[in-house]
Amino acid sequence: MADKPNTWEIALRQFHEVAELVDLPKGLRDYLSVPEAVHIFSVPVLRDAGHTEVFTGIRSQHSFARGPAKGGLRFHPGVSIDEVKALSMWMTWKCAVVNVPFGGGKGGLICDYKSFSPREKERAARSFARRLAPVIGPEVDIPAPDVNTGPETMAWIADEYGHFVGHPEPGVITGKPVEFGGSRGRDSATGRGLAYCVERYYENEDKPLEGQHVVIQGFGNAGQWAAKVLSSMGATIISISDSRGAVHSTEGISVTGAIKHKSETGEVAGMPGDEIKHAEQLELECDILVPAALESVITKKNAPKIRAKLIAEAANGPTTPDADRILHDRGITVIPDVLANAGGVTVSYFEWVQNRQRYYWAEEKVHVRLKSIMRDSTDEVHKLAEERKVSWRTAAYMLAIERVGHAVQVNHPDF
Ligand code: NAD
Repeated sequence: MADKPNTWEIALRQFHEVAELVDLPKGLRDYLSVPEAVHIFSVPVLRDAGHTEVFTGIRSQHSFARGPAKGGLRFHPGVSIDEVKALSMWMTWKCAVVNVPFGGGKGGLICDYKSFSPREKERAARSFARRLAPVIGPEVDIPAPDVNTGPETMAWIADEYGHFVGHPEPGVITGKPVEFGGSRGRDSATGRGLAYCVERYYENEDKPLEGQHVVIQGFGNAGQWAAKVLSSMGATIISISDSRGAVHSTEGISVTGAIKHKSETGEVAGMPGDEIKHAEQLELECDILVPAALESVITKKNAPKIRAKLIAEAANGPTTPDADRILHDRGITVIPDVLANAGGVTVSYFEWVQNRQRYYWAEEKVHVRLKSIMRDSTDEVHKLAEERKVSWRTAAYMLAIERVGHAVQVNHPDF
């Protein structure tokens, strides 16, 4: 496990390396290397069998410097305080990279939520929400869905929060169902935003995106939408995978066929094409590799064998720092998670704006505004990476850390 260090250690290491590069004053460095607040609370849940079980809930608010904290809620047995802290720090940088006026937050409930019955799920989400309510709010901290939580969970949490403050407040949470104050275009935003980034990268390189071969690890929300939009831009998807299997076809995979097959059978295996091993998939010869599943899948072990020319990270933290260095030395550009998957948080920001204004936009307007933000952010990161001769990840962190640092200094000039 030496190549898979603790997630919080990875987040801190990345932060300190870049803080050094941008010459961040020591006080600011100390301030930003701990979350502003971490809330840990007990969450009692009445099980269907008639007894009450108590689970641990966590909410880390890494930074409020640029606005309310923003980030998802993960309901999973593997959630830990360190993981939640790291993810909240990454959210601070992500919001700053795309310049949305939010800080970073993340939360979780340590439980096997997937195994709960529908009634237990609702009771757990509502119990979690009642304990979370005093520390969140539309101007304080705005949670969103993450692993094992979705629009339904967000609706329960918004409902509990409404009871807590005494009036409906849809702006307390994003990722809600459209009929309950959600934004049109949120479901596709992460994969779509990634495709806009990749499209801009090819434009800046003066190369066509048409005909480029794409490998996608993970065929859930982010992976499916990235595949759909990239293929609509002319790219060819040659391999997809999910937790159960991976498929490869040099002629190209029909994305609509794959989405249909996955929704009917629950897996990608069995689709036209060759079945390959998970490990082989990451090492396929291709132009663009999109990890859209888990953390730490590109390590120092497989980084020397990766044959993609470009990696666009839909997942959070799929590349370990050691692997990052190897890829950079090999001339492989990595569009980092904090930029490539920031379409999700960008449209969450749009949802919050619409909730605050009580004025809802057409889906096309969401796509157009998302595209503009993703393209501008891609250009900024690209330009800085070239000027400073650093990786895209380093450039994105430099932009973000400087932006957050300046925001802190406005209120604390002594830093
Ligand atoms: P999801 O649960 O919808 O999909 C995940 C997919 O990965 C599933 O198809 C699953 O079967 C597959 N998978 C799991 N283990 C795998 C393995 N070992 N090999 C191949 N595939 C595997 O989740 P999602 O919302 O698409 O999120 C995926 C990643 O993107 C996560 O890291 C998430 O944090 C990140 N992300 C998602 C969003 C969003 O808006 N959905 C936003 C930002 C970041």
